[in-house]
Amino acid sequence: ALPRDIFAPRQNSAGVPFGERKALASFLAERDAAGPLDVTARCLWSGAKADAPETVRSAVDGTAIGSVHALGAEAASALVGEASRHVRKAEVVPAATRAGWLRKAADLMEARQGLLMNLLAREAGKTVDDGIAEIREAVDFLRFYAAEAERLFGAPTFLPGPTGEENVLQYRSRGVAVCISPWNFPLAIFTGQVAAALAAGNVVIAKPAEQTPLIAAIAVGLLHEAGFPAASLYLAPGDGKAGAALVAHQATAAAAFTGSTETAFAINRALAARNAPIAPLIAETGGINAMIVDATALPEQVADDVVMSAFRSTGQRCSALRLLFVQEEVADAMVEMIAGAAAELTVGDPRDIATDMGPVIDAAQHAMLSEHLDRMGREQRIRFAGTLPAGLPPEGHWIAPHIVELDRAEALPGEIFGPILHVVRWKAGGLDAVCDAIERTGYGLTLGIHSRIDDVARRVRERLTVGNVYINRNMIGAIVGSQPFGGSGLSGTGPKAGGPNYVLRFAREQVVSVNT
Ligand code: NAP
Repeated sequence: ALPRDIFAPRQNSAGVPFGERKALASFLAERDAAGPLDVTARCLWSGAKADAPETVRSAVDGTAIGSVHALGAEAASALVGEASRHVRKAEVVPAATRAGWLRKAADLMEARQGLLMNLLAREAGKTVDDGIAEIREAVDFLRFYAAEAERLFGAPTFLPGPTGEENVLQYRSRGVAVCISPWNFPLAIFTGQVAAALAAGNVVIAKPAEQTPLIAAIAVGLLHEAGFPAASLYLAPGDGKAGAALVAHQATAAAAFTGSTETAFAINRALAARNAPIAPLIAETGGINAMIVDATALPEQVADDVVMSAFRSTGQRCSALRLLFVQEEVADAMVEMIAGAAAELTVGDPRDIATDMGPVIDAAQHAMLSEHLDRMGREQRIRFAGTLPAGLPPEGHWIAPHIVELDRAEALPGEIFGPILHVVRWKAGGLDAVCDAIERTGYGLTLGIHSRIDDVARRVRERLTVGNVYINRNMIGAIVGSQPFGGSGLSGTGPKAGGPNYVLRFAREQVVSVNT
């Protein structure tokens, strides 16, 4: 048997063992009893001319949960100018102090997990399990990048030189770093980008996705409370135009972006078009993530891992499984088993402990997914269509899990960001053709392999240029520090988030040579 126990979830670093989901769920209920959520997301710089506040509504049932004062293009641009006035002040804060503030923010985040879980559920539709995992990841990022600040910035590195000459390499901040994040990990990715940029001593402008400004506002509030001055970290909720204005500004010295590949191209072009020093871009983007299953794989484990990878978080993970390649001999039995497991998933209110899948984020995503399913129904073969329980709030956007069998991998038109799994059969001896098909997508984020033949796994992982490869396990939930995360090709530039090279991208190098 495969050593499954090593893949069991660790204790949540947010202080809650996974077995205590029930305790957390009742904690959520207690938070609800304290009154309705009413969070405000705004930029604290008094010069920021924001739009009139708009109500933010729950992705689950449409109830008001707070308000956002969004910045337009002009205000976002002015904000970069303001931030650039504080670069020197931020840089001279000692690395140990910055690390201390990051660790304090981690402690505060753990202490506020009731509020965060509630917001994650309502603003982003996250289930109890997903909420716990997301807080854990955000806390891990804070602690990991705190240690990185000390490791990289704590003391200079002495380099060799002739007698009478001293050479030292030191890392310094870049200046204004713009961090732009997506809605699907509104706490973890948002916090990770910001924490790394702060660890390197930058002044940071953090722009959350339009769908999730409130969680971002809480995260920024905790970082300020932990010690980071208001003039070293600005929240920039946007009206859809702010992100482009932030990266177009000449004073933007580094950008971190996580989101769609298309937007990454736009940001790259905007940075390059400026008449300003070339700014590095970290882009972490989409994927058409595949899993290859051969006839030797353990069916029960495959079913479990596929359901987890394709449907967990309602399929709204960049790492989620989209294309399952199953060897012909076992394909029907495997699809049946996966469909049987998917049929057991409960779609519903994410705060309910029994819920496996919450809503998709908004009407636009729902329309895109429904259109895709209509097309697949016409052109390919729907092998499984889950059902939605009665009584779901009509204000939420609900999609049941689906399995579509494709006649060829190319029938998948692009990254489908939701709970729809696509299956393609392959014949014995056809492993190279499967790799060719995966390569042709141009993406390279995650890859799963299920086989009991070591050589199969070795051949595939050596052949494909994919950022994160998972063998005989599910392919989601990368752990900070243990599984640095990020793709290649159309999936991103690297360096990997939660890895030893990430913070360095937010720093510049200086070498000082002294004639002693
Ligand atoms: P998105 O539409 O690309 O938006 C991401 C962020 O970019 C938002 O904050 C958005 O702001 C901003 N933005 C949009 N246009 C911009 C522009 N021209 N210049 C600067 N910023 C701009 O992506 P999404 O729909 O939020 O997220 C889903 C995508 O993210 C999927 O493709 C998923 O695979 C990918 N993703 C990748 C990873 C990874 O680690 N590789 C992780 C998570 C998600 P507004 O909201 O104001 O438009």
